[in-house]
Amino acid sequence: MNDLKQLPSVERLLQSESGKDWVRRFGRPLTLEAIRSVLDAVRQNYREKSFLPAGDELSGLVEAQLSNWLSPTLLAVINASGVILHTNLGRAPLSTAALQAIQATSRGYCTLEYDLETGKRGTRLIHAEKLLTHLTGAQGALVVNNNAAAVLLVLSGLARRKRVVIARSQLVEIGGGFRIPDVLKQSGAQLLEVGTTNRVHLSDYEEAIKQGAAVVLRAHHSNFKIIGFTQEPTLAELCKLAEKYGVIVIDDLGSGALIDTAQYGLAHEPTVQESLAAGASLVCFSGDKLLGGPQAGIIVGRADLIGKLKKHPLARAIRSDKLCLAALTATLMHYIKDEAQIQIPVWRSIAMTLEEIQERAERWCDFLRTGQVIASNSTVGGGSLPEETLPTYVFALKVKSPQWFVAQLRKLSPPVIARLEDDQVLFDPRTVFPEQDEMLLSGLKSLGVCDSSDVA
Ligand SMILES: *Cc1c(COP(=O)(O)O)cnc(C)c1O
Repeated sequence: MNDLKQLPSVERLLQSESGKDWVRRFGRPLTLEAIRSVLDAVRQNYREKSFLPAGDELSGLVEAQLSNWLSPTLLAVINASGVILHTNLGRAPLSTAALQAIQATSRGYCTLEYDLETGKRGTRLIHAEKLLTHLTGAQGALVVNNNAAAVLLVLSGLARRKRVVIARSQLVEIGGGFRIPDVLKQSGAQLLEVGTTNRVHLSDYEEAIKQGAAVVLRAHHSNFKIIGFTQEPTLAELCKLAEKYGVIVIDDLGSGALIDTAQYGLAHEPTVQESLAAGASLVCFSGDKLLGGPQAGIIVGRADLIGKLKKHPLARAIRSDKLCLAALTATLMHYIKDEAQIQIPVWRSIAMTLEEIQERAERWCDFLRTGQVIASNSTVGGGSLPEETLPTYVFALKVKSPQWFVAQLRKLSPPVIARLEDDQVLFDPRTVFPEQDEMLLSGLKSLGVCDSSDVA
């Protein structure tokens, strides 16, 4: 083609077989928009480079435009990276019971804010509260949209125009640009930093309280570790001091485990129960980190403070929805029934035995008749237990071009996210669900990973 006049009209493209197909799949308005935008681009290109695509290329361009606009971007993937709480991969996978609870309450109507006893308006705040107070020993509990929102609410509700003392070593930034000093500022609280990067003493806090600090804030380091010449008072020491002066202590635990990670050979991640027992006035933590539930921010602690927060205008703006509450209550029930390690995927991954992992890695290796099984490490991730690893076995592939190969893995359906280490591509069974094994193996087979040592 060498003349603009030969370009089909919008109407002709719309009436073509492909056009009818697009209208059926994407609706007429968007199809029109795609055709127009492709024709515009083609005309522009002709003016600049005197080049026109052939007729059938044209429909390919429209098709590409439509799928570029509409192909889904939120997709299920197979996580073979060995990072259990992978923030970029949606953190905690939900338990079967949590998924069923979402289905059961959200397919139709539910008692989100309805009291069946009286037939009157109820409150969404009750659904998880009893479970949370039973599990943690707290007087009250409040669930909001995520932990960043929980911290913002606590500080806005209790520390506005007040001085908040925090150790310099705890002025952390966690993923997604959440910075403790910025949240403090946003809440209207005044930051009083004490100590140095590596050391802070109880006397530093006492000095700050004497200077008028009304709130002591402690934030979990989450994603980094300070080692060497370090010092921080314990939470119990801080709480005792705070009690003496009548100020409150807020503990942002970040991940907030309900069960002890140390039983799996990991470092001890502070539990919510411990923080409350040490005397924290309020403890905040995430729903989708080590708790293993849906995205949520959970605040537990003193009844009077929780009551105050429930009435704060911000609480309405960051309230949790029915899907979250359904999944969260089902997740909490696993802890009540002492079956978290069996039913909650995050804990199942943590509790998986080395033998079980090795056996699966070897099965993959046998099936594909290539690669090898080697010892490696999984990580917990998700802003908990920094630098801590769990011993694992991985299926390791040596390929000619590892970067290219992992890019091919990402193009599979479902995409496979593997780990690159020392120019080998590693697949960790710890984060791959057994029911995904078949999909993983057929995906690898489709890339030519089978019975040969020189893939790609
Ligand atoms: C993860 C984390 C948060 C934020 O929690 P989200 O649920 O991701 O909003 C806040 N504080 C600490 C210490 C954290 O580790």
